[in-house]
Amino acid sequence: MRAAVFTDYGEPLDVREVDDPEPDPDGAVVAVEACGVCRSDWHAWQGDWDWRGLDPVPGHVLGHEPAGHVLKVGEEVERVSEGDHVAVPFNLGDGSCHRCKTGHSNICENRQALGLQPDAPGAFAEQVPVPHADHNLVKLPEGVSSTEMAGLGCRFMTAFHGLAHRADLGAGDWFVVHGCGGVGLSAVQIATALGANVVGVDLVEEKLDFAE
Ligand SMILES: [Zn+2]
Ligand SMILES: [Zn+2]
Repeated sequence: MRAAVFTDYGEPLDVREVDDPEPDPDGAVVAVEACGVCRSDWHAWQGDWDWRGLDPVPGHVLGHEPAGHVLKVGEEVERVSEGDHVAVPFNLGDGSCHRCKTGHSNICENRQALGLQPDAPGAFAEQVPVPHADHNLVKLPEGVSSTEMAGLGCRFMTAFHGLAHRADLGAGDWFVVHGCGGVGLSAVQIATALGANVVGVDLVEEKLDFAE
């Protein structure tokens, strides 16, 4: 397959042929149709996150916001099948620890950061391997395209969890977003959908236009 391969900090990615991934017994391979580009990719590419253990080495593939169709499944996979239209979360859980079993696989005890850790190659590629596929893959409803899903990326889930699950934002609440970047603009949309009165704050006119 072809992939956009990391070569060195701050250097252009190199589009080249690499080996096709094979699924683990409980994993899958997804044919990538779209993948978001994120500030986190930029930080990893710049080498900002070695203190977090998220420092790509030459040959690594970035990209953590993909959607596409399941291409292959391992023999132990039961819930997803070849051809399913899916999104891949950016935090991959093992599906078996206490946190995964209580709905918090984003903080799994054996969490893998897709596209940011050496053992979790990312989706700036034609195919991406997904471990523990029954737990991690999210089937998409009819009418949601891979491009739309990739556009939601990690920014939408981050904002949604904060507003809907943590802040319990609801109709009539007042809500101020300081910084209308990817997560901020997602927060504007989600807060509006929840019925809140939204105020967007930013120093950049173009971002305020987006927020409006
Ligand atoms: Zn992201
Ligand atoms: Zn877990």
